[in-house]
Amino acid sequence: MTIQEIIKKTLMEVKAKGENLTPDLYSELFCREAKRANVIVEDCQRVEKFLKRLPPELQKDLKKRHVSTVDQLVQYLASELSRSEPKGDSEVTEAYMMLAKRLLQTITLLHDKKAAAMAEEDRNRLNAYTDRAQIDAIRERWNRFVMEYSDAFLDRLDPYCRVDKSDLESMVNGIVKCFRSGEKGEAPRQSGGLEAVAQLMIASLTPSIASGMNDELATISSQIRSNPELLTSDAMMQDLKHMIKKRIELDKKAVVAQIGELDSVIDHINLALTRVIDSGEGNQEALGAIQGELESVNLKADSFEVIHKKLLAVATSLEKETRVLSEEMHRSKERISELQQKVRILESALHKERKKSSTDTLTKLPNRRGIDESLSRLEAAFKRYKDNYSVVLFDLDHFKTVNDTYGHDAGDMILASFAKQLRRYSRELDIVGRWGGEEFMVILPKTDSDGAYKFAQKLREVVQKSKFLYKGRRIPITVSGGVADRVSYPDKESMLKAADEKLYKAKEGGRNKIVA
Ligand code: GH3
Ligand code: MG
Ligand code: MG
Repeated sequence: MTIQEIIKKTLMEVKAKGENLTPDLYSELFCREAKRANVIVEDCQRVEKFLKRLPPELQKDLKKRHVSTVDQLVQYLASELSRSEPKGDSEVTEAYMMLAKRLLQTITLLHDKKAAAMAEEDRNRLNAYTDRAQIDAIRERWNRFVMEYSDAFLDRLDPYCRVDKSDLESMVNGIVKCFRSGEKGEAPRQSGGLEAVAQLMIASLTPSIASGMNDELATISSQIRSNPELLTSDAMMQDLKHMIKKRIELDKKAVVAQIGELDSVIDHINLALTRVIDSGEGNQEALGAIQGELESVNLKADSFEVIHKKLLAVATSLEKETRVLSEEMHRSKERISELQQKVRILESALHKERKKSSTDTLTKLPNRRGIDESLSRLEAAFKRYKDNYSVVLFDLDHFKTVNDTYGHDAGDMILASFAKQLRRYSRELDIVGRWGGEEFMVILPKTDSDGAYKFAQKLREVVQKSKFLYKGRRIPITVSGGVADRVSYPDKESMLKAADEKLYKAKEGGRNKIVA
């Protein structure tokens, strides 16, 4: 049979099957007809040539399945390949495991703590015996990690410096370069970041305690504010160092000044308090309020400003209170000194009156009242210290006759002269007084009756020898006296009575006599 006849038969077959004529269907039917006619066609031998190269088991299987075309052969081989456990599986698996471990080790070197920890953990798991389920779990975890991983935080660098963020090393290098070369404008820099830094710099230049900046600080702050790029210059860095020192100095000065001010407030309060305390008076209500104000000062919790305000309020209240107090005190002092002045006037008037009332006008000697005062003084000393004293009672002899003979004026003159003699011959400490009429008393402190007697005798002699001259006429005068000392009598009155009795005796005894 010729090739043409085989082709004719094949086409008839296709027609009889009623199928569409495709190259594959044609080739299949053609080869079958050629085989039936024992005609060898090169193209139809191809499948058999392939089959002969396959292992004998596969060739048997293919024959069983009537694989005769290239298409069928390809389909068969594809299905065989997709079947599990191809040959050499364990070696490949082992290679994959090694690769997985190496990858995990690599991950531990990356700069991500979470990933590194996970990789280390899973590497250990793979080193131990691992079954399919464990590997699936590991894979699942890494799936989740990849899904959840976000490096958006790196975008926060953008305001300061735009760098390539695909590689950590180049990113770090980029940032360093960016900050170093900012001045030259090599790395793009967002002005927003620099402005934020500028704000910070200005804040650090502004004193926190001192009330204001000085001119130099204000100038540099306004320069930075208007041109933040200045911050990148080396000159500005130097200036800033200097300025920050200056700002601290300002704060320091302010603290010193404020403490000084606080000191003066406290001094003020101290002074006011001392005044109130010293006065021992003061309005209790006002003082209570001031105390309350002082208690409200909390050195720990309050700011300096608050403490200062509170203390000032306390000082003001105290000042007001002490002013009222000192005004009152001043007024009462004035009243007191007015009264004292009046008292002094009254006292001196009284003193004059008293002196007048205790002095005899003719002889200028103390009168009976004056003598009584002196006696009381000596009596007190006697009672206290046993200080003895004596009294001498003098009485001029026959004085009535003197008056009658020479006149009352002559009598007065003699009384005054006798008084002078008494004063002249007595000691300074002795008290000489006019007892009444022509009677005189001399009190001799720290003197016993012997001493007093001697004194009285001497006086008597002096009087006797004296020339009492009146209008050219000599008037003879004698005197008698009675002496008594205090220690010899139980009391002052009996001593006086005794002196009087002794005087009477002297008179009785002939006058011009002293009786002790
Ligand atoms: P005798 O020796 O006893 O004391 O006698 P006498 O005269 O002194 O005593 P008498 O008591 O009788 O008289 C006292 C007189 O002293 C009476 C009075 O006139 C006189 N006399 C008293 N006081 C004053 C005075 O101040 N001036 C004058 N000139 N005479 C006075
Ligand atoms: Mg007499
Ligand atoms: Mg007499």
